[in-house]
Amino acid sequence: MGITTICGINWGDEGKGRMVDYFASSADFVIRFQGGNNAGHTVMNEYGKFALHLLPSGIFNKKAINILGNGTVVNPEALAKEIEEIEKVIGSIDNLLISDRCHIIFPFHILLDEYEEERLKEKKFGSTKRGIAPVYSDKYLKVGILASDLLDKDYLYKRLKNNLEFKNQIIEKVYNKPKVDIDEMLEWGYSNGKKISRYIKDVIPIIHEAMYEDKKILLEGQLGALRDIEFGIYPYTTSSSPIPGYAPAGTSIPPYEIKRVIGVMKAYSTCVGEGPFVTEIFSEKAEEIRKKGNEYGAATGRPRRIGWFDAVASRFGCKITGATEIAITLLDVLSGQESIKICDRYNINGEVIDKFPTTRLLYDAKPEYIEMPGWDEDISKVRNFFDLPKNAQKYILKIEELIGVRIKYISVGPVRDQLIKR
Ligand code: GDP
Ligand code: MG
Repeated sequence: MGITTICGINWGDEGKGRMVDYFASSADFVIRFQGGNNAGHTVMNEYGKFALHLLPSGIFNKKAINILGNGTVVNPEALAKEIEEIEKVIGSIDNLLISDRCHIIFPFHILLDEYEEERLKEKKFGSTKRGIAPVYSDKYLKVGILASDLLDKDYLYKRLKNNLEFKNQIIEKVYNKPKVDIDEMLEWGYSNGKKISRYIKDVIPIIHEAMYEDKKILLEGQLGALRDIEFGIYPYTTSSSPIPGYAPAGTSIPPYEIKRVIGVMKAYSTCVGEGPFVTEIFSEKAEEIRKKGNEYGAATGRPRRIGWFDAVASRFGCKITGATEIAITLLDVLSGQESIKICDRYNINGEVIDKFPTTRLLYDAKPEYIEMPGWDEDISKVRNFFDLPKNAQKYILKIEELIGVRIKYISVGPVRDQLIKR
C-alpha cells in the first residue's frame, strides 16, 4: 500500500494536527518521527478541542496504534500529564507506544534552554524552552539518555553521571548557576519513567510487522520544512528534521516505503519566533488576520507573525519534502479581504529570484507580489470546490500553478469535516 507522511510546508502551524486527525480516522498506525513537546497540534473532533504537544494526532482513533518513534524526544513528566489530560476526556489510552530508543528530556535540558536564551539576550532564538535543543545536542554529543535507560536505575545513574559531570561545569562556570544534583535527577527520571513505562517498547518489530501486513501507516511531522535543520532558515530552525526524508531514520521504516507525502500549507503565512520572514505584514491587516485565524501559538500562546502567501518559500518547501499533494488550510480566514497578495519573487538588492535562498540573503529580500481580488462570502460550510466563490477558486488555482503541486484538500474550518476534496 505504501506509507503516507504528513508534513508542514511552511514555518509550522499549518494545521497538520487537523489534517492528521482527519486521515488518522482511517489509519492503523500513526507515528511521530521527530521533535518533542514543543509541538502544538490543534485537533477538533467529536471529543472537543485539544492542543497536542507530544502525543501523535491519531490518539483519538482508538483503533489506531500511535507511536513516538526513536527520532522524537520525550519529556516523561510532560507526557504523563498530557496523557492524563486526554484520558479525562476519552478514557484510558491503551493505543500508545514509545520507542525505547527515544531520547529523554530532563529538567536540566529545560534549564539549559532558559540559561542560554538569557545569555543571548536580544540575540535569542525564541526557543519554546522545552529543552529541545539541549536534548538533541546531547544526542549528538552521545551523552543522551534513552527511554530504555529510565527502566534501570543503576544504568540510569551511570548515564546521568556521565552527562552531568560535564554539564555541571558549564552550568556553574558559563551560566553562573547552581549545579544540578545527580540524585535528584535520578529520582526524577526513575519516578517519571515509571509513569510511562507501560508504553516503552522496542517498536521496530511492531512497525515492521505492520509494514509486512500492509497496514495503513501515517507518519506525522512536526513544525514545517522552513524550520528543518538541514534546509530551513538556519539558525532559526528547530533542532531536528521534520521533512519526510528524515522519517525513515526516525522510525526504522525503509525510505522506499514512503509513497505519498501530503504537504500541509496555509492560505497565508504565519511564523512564530525569530528569523527573517519576507512577506510579513505589520499593518492592522495583520491584527485582523491574527484575530480571525486565532493565530496564537498552541504550545506557547505567543501571537504568531502574519504574512501573505509566499510562493517562493512554499515552492521550496514542496521540493524538499517531496510533497506529492497539498492540503491548504485556513482559506476561510481570508474571506472579507478586498484583495489578497501572493509573493512569487524576491528582489534581493536589485536581483530578482524565484528560488528560496539562505538566511543571509533572506534579510535583504523584498517580496514582489501578484495581487488577486478577494471574496466576501463565508465559505466555512462549502464542501465542493466549485461552490467556492470564483475568486477563492482562482486564488487556489493560482497557488497551485505557482507551487507546481496538486492541491487536493482545502480546509475551510478547524473541525474534522470542514474540508473540500478535489
Ligand atoms: P499544527 O501545528 O500544524 O498542527 O497547527 P496548529 O494547530 O498549531 O495551528 C493551526 C490552527 O488553525 C489551529 O488553531 C487549528 O484549529 C486551526 N485550523 C486548522 N485548519 C483550519 C481551517 O481551515 N480554518 C480555520 N479557521 N482554522 C483552522
Ligand atoms: Mg502548531
